[in-house]
Amino acid sequence: MLKGIAASAGIAIAKVYKLETPSFEIVKTEATPAEEVAKFNDALEKTKSDIEGIKERAAKRLAPEELAVFDAHLMMAGDPELASQIISMIENDKVNAEFATNEVANMMVAMFESMDNEYFKERAADVKDVTFRLKCNLLGLTIPDLSAINEDSVIIAHDLTPSDTAQLNEYAKGFATNIGGKTSHSAIMANSLEIPAVVGCSGVLDAASNGDTVILDALDGVVILNPTAEEIKEYEGKRAAYMEEKEALKVLKDAKSITTDGHEVELAGNIGTPDDVDGVLNNGGEGIGLYRTEFLYMHSDHFPTEDEQFEAYKAVLEGMGGRRVVVRTLDIGGDKKLPYFTFDPEMNPFLGYRAIRLCLDRKEIFRTQLRALIRASVYGRLCIMFPMIATVDEFRQGKAIFEEEREKLIAEGVKVADKIEVGMMVEIPAAAVNADNFAKEADFFSIGTNDLIQYSMAADRMNEKVSYLYQPYNPSILRLIKMTIDGAHKEGKWAGMCGAMAGEEYAVPVLLGLGLDEFSMSATQILKARKMVTNLSKKEMEGLAEEALKQATAEDVLALVKKAVE
Ligand code: PEP
Ligand code: MG
Repeated sequence: MLKGIAASAGIAIAKVYKLETPSFEIVKTEATPAEEVAKFNDALEKTKSDIEGIKERAAKRLAPEELAVFDAHLMMAGDPELASQIISMIENDKVNAEFATNEVANMMVAMFESMDNEYFKERAADVKDVTFRLKCNLLGLTIPDLSAINEDSVIIAHDLTPSDTAQLNEYAKGFATNIGGKTSHSAIMANSLEIPAVVGCSGVLDAASNGDTVILDALDGVVILNPTAEEIKEYEGKRAAYMEEKEALKVLKDAKSITTDGHEVELAGNIGTPDDVDGVLNNGGEGIGLYRTEFLYMHSDHFPTEDEQFEAYKAVLEGMGGRRVVVRTLDIGGDKKLPYFTFDPEMNPFLGYRAIRLCLDRKEIFRTQLRALIRASVYGRLCIMFPMIATVDEFRQGKAIFEEEREKLIAEGVKVADKIEVGMMVEIPAAAVNADNFAKEADFFSIGTNDLIQYSMAADRMNEKVSYLYQPYNPSILRLIKMTIDGAHKEGKWAGMCGAMAGEEYAVPVLLGLGLDEFSMSATQILKARKMVTNLSKKEMEGLAEEALKQATAEDVLALVKKAVE
């Protein structure tokens, strides 16, 4: 039995599927050219058919534009230049095929990366990807292919990248990873996909073997490998009880989120793609409080065009039928990379060139996104927010660019909505402390506690060794949240929260007391939150929040809340 962090609720019992990327060393040997060329040609054919297979399987679930990455890889694998360079090296230097492949790949990557042109920089990523597969095929090593899984499985991995999660199909019943925290992107994706996940489960990859039976308890953050028949029975019971509770909550799907003393709040959902809209509506979401648009960029092999983005934003706005939709502009950097964009190495990527900082520097990327959003605004009730705002000046710059693009579109005769609210994420302590000034210019705030806690506690959200510092109940965090909400209300603006704290059982009462107007969470948490809100009195929660703010530690706050609500 291994302990980890429960990141996406649920219980799964299935077979282990280990996701391990092969590691190898390339050694140079002297070889017979004719044999090596034949070996190379076979491996190249296999590489092409592997990619075709992945593309075919992915086509069943992904939109055509999301398949573009596979076309780029096929083009690279079929590039005569690549093959002829490798074959020449095998023939001239009399070396083994994998050595020649490695040398040529390194040269091509270096060449593409040195070019001052985004298109060619993107090709470097393609060369790496395709030649890695080629080398594995030459060495007889298998690259696991998540999209080919065809029996119920729990994926066990060191970590899951966004492209791994994009390959998960209906047989993936959940996953457990060595690293990661509640708010890492694998956890966010698991919530979107509504599958259970345990992350930060150190040692799980080594402990598991393919084909083992595994119990994944993502209610308590436990992974049990090779369980006994009794354990399986126990957890089947636990799973049934959980499903029953989930079913019972459905009666609240169309209910309003009103406290016993008549105070109404909005319970919204966080989404990563337009496909997630149904999940939010089926779970009674009253709006979208956070659309993380970076997934649109991460699941593509190029910067999504204005039209591609327009279609995605329109789909979400139409899907939500006039309910409020808060779209966050590109939040890339930190742990979120793009296969086609080279980030310079940084000592501290989470403190570096990312999100609004990158967008204000690379304005053409930002303008394209804003134009797509403004064009889509006529299809629903659009709010736009900027991530990682630290200074009022950054907000002003972002807003000014938005205004410019809006004016331009109007001048071009494009119809735009009369009102588009422009707000910001409050996820940097500096913004929380200065909230009253920001509120004079921003239409709304959405508190990103995942980052707000990371930056306030100086504790990397990806590092499970410091995950104890993820303390939403710490009075320091509660005070920053209070400053933010009070700042907004002073100027007649609304304040929401889209970090993971917004859906936490013991946080909802305190946040209600602090006056939070909108709570945005993963779809599966909405009904439980609604049950809580409808059983609480706003007035009483104000008293609770006041007491909570006076406490010294997170444990004290938690004890206080538990006593009040249980
Ligand atoms: C946050 O930081 O709380 C947030 C909602 O954004 P993300 O998790 O995408 O960084
Ligand atoms: Mg954030």
